[in-house]
Formats: sequence, structure tokens, C-alpha cells
Amino acid sequence: MSQHPIIAIVGSGPIGSAYARLLVEEVPDARVVMFEAGPQVTPVPGASVRNIIDPDEKERAREMSQGPQAGALRESLGIPAGVVVEGMFTARQGTHLIDFGGEGSGHAPTFAAAAASTNVGGMGAHWTCATPSPSFSEKIPFIPDDEWDELLETAKSLLHVQDAAFADSAVGEGIRALLAEEFAGELPDGYGVSTLPVAGDPQPDGSMRWAGADVVLGPLVDPSSPLSERFELHDLSLVRRVEVADGRATGVTVQDLRTHETRFVPADVVVVAADAFRTPQLLWASGIRPRALGHYLTEHPVVITTVAVDADKIGRFATEEDLDAEIARRSVNPADPVAAVNRIPFSEPGHPFSLQVMYAENPPFQLDPSHPASGNRWGYVNMGYGMRKRPRFEDGVTFDDAEPDYRGFPNMTIQYELTDAENAESAAATERLRRAGGAIGTFIAEPRLLPNGSSLHYMGTTRIGESDDGTSVADPWSRVWGVGSLFVGGNGVIPTANTMNPTLMSIAVAVRGARKAAAELAQLATAAR
Ligand code: FAD
Repeated sequence: MSQHPIIAIVGSGPIGSAYARLLVEEVPDARVVMFEAGPQVTPVPGASVRNIIDPDEKERAREMSQGPQAGALRESLGIPAGVVVEGMFTARQGTHLIDFGGEGSGHAPTFAAAAASTNVGGMGAHWTCATPSPSFSEKIPFIPDDEWDELLETAKSLLHVQDAAFADSAVGEGIRALLAEEFAGELPDGYGVSTLPVAGDPQPDGSMRWAGADVVLGPLVDPSSPLSERFELHDLSLVRRVEVADGRATGVTVQDLRTHETRFVPADVVVVAADAFRTPQLLWASGIRPRALGHYLTEHPVVITTVAVDADKIGRFATEEDLDAEIARRSVNPADPVAAVNRIPFSEPGHPFSLQVMYAENPPFQLDPSHPASGNRWGYVNMGYGMRKRPRFEDGVTFDDAEPDYRGFPNMTIQYELTDAENAESAAATERLRRAGGAIGTFIAEPRLLPNGSSLHYMGTTRIGESDDGTSVADPWSRVWGVGSLFVGGNGVIPTANTMNPTLMSIAVAVRGARKAAAELAQLATAAR
């Protein structure tokens, strides 16, 4: 080991950033070198694009994150723009589809909405910032409860989580009261209707500065902090291989996408946090191929609807003056007019779903101006139930060495199927969504199950497990089975059937992994002395 250990991190999303932060803080002489395939799109690396006020600048930052579908960026790198086929699924802003339909596109006919972001900060520059914690069987059974609680607390502080965001909104409180009435007596204590935790920093004017990888990196991207001297972030740098010798990761081979030059970067620890599809792809391309790699793919299926808030219903709990105050608050930040976020968390056995309820000024689609609910003064609620998907070996991503994708990696094919177990819960969740929506207002969109891949929360493809029995890729500390010094991070590590937004949970798992990596480096340093 070198005198100053080097840690190479692949991917600059919230999870790679959590590894970077902890390893710089916990290993006094370590240098962390982070490689990101996409460009930096905000002045502070990894900041949330939602905080950009200017609509054109925001649009540009999103387009720059859209990899093969981002014409201007790709053209500037001398790569022909991807072909977008009319009638195909389109990706959420800031993301690009895995199966985008052009040359070198992945194949995902049964998981068609699968998407990724390619930019500094990853999807964490575009996310909604909902940060609930897992409960009951969503939790990882082999991590002890007291350790888990501490890991979650650390993860919350890394992400600046607010448990009671917008709790002072009277309209938000009214929505909670209506839902609590509807589901009275059906939910266990402590798992009833509440505010949805979100990641961000409340501002004095009542708006929120949303968190991205920037807040996770914290002092590492603050030039006035001495810690920043031991951190390097290289954007437009595509890691092509993790190199392995004598059963240990020895570093990474990186291609600079500006110059197209390729170099080897030695490292004492390698962390791959390149999302739930590209992490297993990179391991596969590097010849690291545990049986479970890419398999056991899950997401939480989502059934959603939109209702116009009914003045008579909400009027029992909130006044016209409350609504005026709400409208005044939203107008402070017209670029991101979120006001109140509520939820009902997962609980067992009676409520194996997570309900997310976002109060908004406008529906998320163009409502016909002649519709009776158009221009509804009390606003709208977008709501959706996340449901379980049982992990199965046959759901997953496989790689074809004979067919290069647009980046020259073994191409991906995703296979995925909802079974009777999921279909039954989907029907039950739809029924509940009708009750929840009806309690608040008038439906302006029928409850509907979104296409597979729509959640953007892809889990299981590099799952952690208790033993190397072929059903997991890494051990309980995220160390890849059979390859020393190699850690995997991201939602892919989650082995359970999870119904909620997974980023906080993946950061908690990353904190555990980073502490193990720090302990291993300390041991190696002692041995070397
Ligand atoms: P990512 O953020 O995806 O980052 C991975 C990075 O690795 C990417 O930037 C990619 O370019 C890079 N990379 C890939 N391959 C390579 C390579 N070979 N070399 C170098 N770099 C590479 N989650 C929640 O929990 N709550 C939410 O409310 C929520 N809302 C969301 C809303 C939207 C619109 C989107 C897009 C996502 C949302 N998510 C949400 C998901 C959340 O953003 C992700 O869970 C989180 O970003 C995962 O972090 P990560 O670091 O594992 O991966």
C-alpha cells in the first residue's frame, strides 16, 4: 500500500459522494479520486438542478445530463446524437432511457421506462429529495437494529434531511387530517399519516434549497476546507475497467472523454457506485461475474393519480386566509413551487405500501381549460402508492459480450415480470388510492399503474447478502464476494422488497461500507509499518 492510500470512486451520485466524504474524513492521509462519465452541469459540483431559477439554464443542465439523447453535449464530444424513435417512452427530464431505440441502445421491452442520468451528481441532481426510512421487512435483516438506526441518522445528516418539511403549511395539515379520517383505525401507531421527510435546507423565505451530491460531499467541494485538498473529481471520465490482480482490485482504467486518452489509475480501494445497471455492467466488463450480478432486479411498482383539492372538504380544516398564505409562499420560488409533502409509510401486515402525497399548484399534465377543475384555486394533489416487488433471480439485467452498447460496453438486456403477488397488491393499492383521492377531492386522472421502470428506483442488481451462496454480489459491508478492496454502492445493494424511495437507505448501507473500507486501510497501514 502507498504511504497515502488512494481510493478510486466510480460515479459521482449521492452514494459515491457518501463514500468520498467518509473516507476523506476517516482516513487521515487518504486521497479520494472520483471519476464521473458525465459533465459537471452546475457551478458547485453535484448541486440540485431544481435550485436553478433561470428556466433556460435549468433546461440546459437537464439536457447535459441526458447522455446518449443529449444532442448538443454528444455532438460537442464528436459522437453522433442518439436516434429517438417517435412513439417510444420518453425519459424524465435530466435522465435518458436505457432502451432509447438508437444505435447501441440497451434492450428493455419489459422494463421500458428504465432510465439513468449521466452528469456530476448523477440522478441526485434531478431527484425529488423524498427521504423516508425503510420499516418492517423493508429493512435489511442482517444489519442489527441499533447499528441500523445510527447508520440512518448519519445518512440523514449527510443528506440534510428534514423530517417535518413544510409542516407549518395549513393546507398540508388539512390534507393530513382528511387522510387520517379516511384511514382511522386501520394504521398501526407510529405509521399513520405524516409529513414526508425530504432532503434540503429550508430558507428564511419559506422555500427549500434542495440537496444534491453537493451537500453529501460538503467540505470536499468547499475550497476553503483543508479536506478539499485530498479530493479530486474528474468529470467526462469514463471508467472502462476495474483492474484485479491476485484476487484484489488494484485500480481502474479510465478514458478521458475529451481527449479519448485512456490511463490506468492505481488504487488501494475501488468503490463502484455507477447506478443499478451500470455498476453490474462495469463489473461484468471487468471479468468480475458473481452468479447474482445483475439479477434480483426490483423496483417498487407505482400506481398514481391526481385530484383537484375540493374546497368543501379541505375547508373543514383550512381557511381562505391559509390558502392565501400558501399561494404567497409558493410565489417566492415560482421555479419550484412545492408546498406540502405528506405520506403514509409502509407497515405490516395491514399496509404493505408507501403512499406519497404531493400538494401542487398545477397538475403534472395539461388540463383542458374547459375542464370544471381547471384553474382550481385550492390546487391539486399528485399521489401514488409504491408497492413491493418480490426479488427473483429471473428479473434482471444480463450483458452480451458480443454486442457493444453505445459506449462500447457489453450491451444490456433487461428482463422483468410482475407476478400474481404483485398484481394482487396493485389491485389493493389502487382501491386505497381511490379512497385517499376521494377523501381529498375530485379525480382529474384515473388511478393507473405506471409502466415498469417508471419509479427510477432500481434495486437488487448488486445485492448484499449474508453468505456467498450465489444469491448476492457482495457481503454485508458491500465488499464484492471474492475480490478484495472492491466495494459496490447504490440502490443495487438493497436485497429486500422495498416500497419507498431508496436513496437514504442506500446511503446508510454506504456509510457501513465506507467504515469497513476505512478499517481495512488502517489495518493495511499497520501491517505495512
Ligand atoms: P446515480 O445518482 O445514478 O449516479 C451514478 C453516476 O455514475 C452517474 O452520474 C453516472 O454517469 C456515473 N457512471 C456510470 N457509469 C460510469 C462509469 N463507467 N464511469 C464513470 N462514471 C459512471 N430517490 C429518492 O430516494 N427519493 C426521491 O424523491 C427520488 N426522486 C427522484 C426523481 C427523479 C426525477 C430522479 C431522476 C431520481 C429520483 N430518485 C429519488 C432516485 C435517486 O436520484 C437515486 O436513488 C440516487 O441518485 C442514486 O444515487 P447513486 O449515487 O447510486 O447513483
